[in-house]
Amino acid sequence: MKAFTYIEKGKFAMTDKPRPSIQSPTDAIVRVTLGSICTSDLHIKHGSVPRAVPGITVGHEMVGIVEETGSEVKGVSVGDRVTVNVETFCGDCFYCRHGYVNNCTSPHGGWALGCRIDGGQAEYVRVPLASQGLNRIPDSVTDDQALFVGDILATGFWAARISEISPDDTVLIIGAGPTGICTLLCVMLKHPKNIIVCEQSEERRRFIRNNYPDVLVTTPEECCDFTAAHSLHGGADRVLEVAGGPDTFQLAWQCARPNAIVTIVALYDKPQLLPLPDMYGKNLTFKTGGVDGCDCAEVLQLIAQGKIDTTPLITHRFPLSRIEEAYRIFENKEDNVNKIAIYND
Ligand SMILES: [Zn+2]
Ligand SMILES: [Zn+2]
Repeated sequence: MKAFTYIEKGKFAMTDKPRPSIQSPTDAIVRVTLGSICTSDLHIKHGSVPRAVPGITVGHEMVGIVEETGSEVKGVSVGDRVTVNVETFCGDCFYCRHGYVNNCTSPHGGWALGCRIDGGQAEYVRVPLASQGLNRIPDSVTDDQALFVGDILATGFWAARISEISPDDTVLIIGAGPTGICTLLCVMLKHPKNIIVCEQSEERRRFIRNNYPDVLVTTPEECCDFTAAHSLHGGADRVLEVAGGPDTFQLAWQCARPNAIVTIVALYDKPQLLPLPDMYGKNLTFKTGGVDGCDCAEVLQLIAQGKIDTTPLITHRFPLSRIEEAYRIFENKEDNVNKIAIYND
C-alpha cells in the first residue's frame, strides 16, 4: 500500500509498505478514508520532534472504516466509520481515569501514531489500544465533519473546557490558525459575553470576520488596548494562547485582567520567559496543556447536533497519490490554504 514516510530530516516520500496487520488483541486495522496534514507533521519533517522515528508513516489526523479488530477490542466493530484519536491511551492508569489521557503512563501511550509508529497518511493504519483510540462516527456526520475530532478539535475542546469560561467573560483567543479556529468554535459553545480573536495575518482575520461575524477581531499591535476597551475590568477574563509566536506568551498575560485564567495551548519553539516581578499582584492562574482527546464522543455528538462545524477549515483536497503537492502548499501557506483533506484514490 501507499504510505507517506519520514525518510530523514528534511525529507518525506511516498513508499510502498505491506498492509498493517493485528499485532496485539487490542489493535484494530482502519482503512483510512480521509486524512489531513498538521503543523506537527512539519515539525517532524524539520527534525524538531526527537521521538519521531525515521521510516515511520506520518499522519495523525484521520477518519476511516474499521477493517479488522483484535479479540479484545470493545466499542467498535468491523465496518464502523470511526475517528482516530491522535493520542494512544490505556484508559486504565491514574491519569486516564482522571481524564488526562495525554499523560497516560502506558509505554504505548501518548503521541504514537505518525510519530513513534506508522500513522495515517496511508491506505491503512494499525491503531493500538483501539477501544480507547477509536470513536464511532454518528451516521448523520460526514467524514469531512469528523476529520478534526481526534486532534485539533480535541485540542480546542480541551482548551475551552479547562478555561472555566462563564457568560460574563470577555475571552481573548490569540491565534486564528486551524487550532485557533477549533478553539474559537469550542469557546463559542460557552456563550461568553465577548470573544476577541487576535491574529497577525490579514487573511486569517478576514476568515474570522467572514465566518463568525459576532467575533471581535484585532491585531497583536492593538490587542491589549482593544481587549481592555471591550472588557468590563480592564482586560480579558480568560485568555487562550494558541499562536505560539515569539511574543504571544507575553501578549497573553499582558492582556489578561487581574485574577484571570490564562490557558496556554501553543507549542513554542523556544523556552518562554515568565517575568514574575512584572506581573506581581496580578494573581494570574496559568493552565497549560496540549491535546487531551478524552472528549471525542461528546464532540461527535455536538457535531451531529449542528453545534460545531469545522468544514469551513477545509480549503483544499488532494488524493493520497499527490500528497507531496499538498505538503508544498500547506508548508508554504500558498493559495490561502487552511487545512487540506487527503482522500484515498
Ligand atoms: Zn496534529
Ligand atoms: Zn493510561
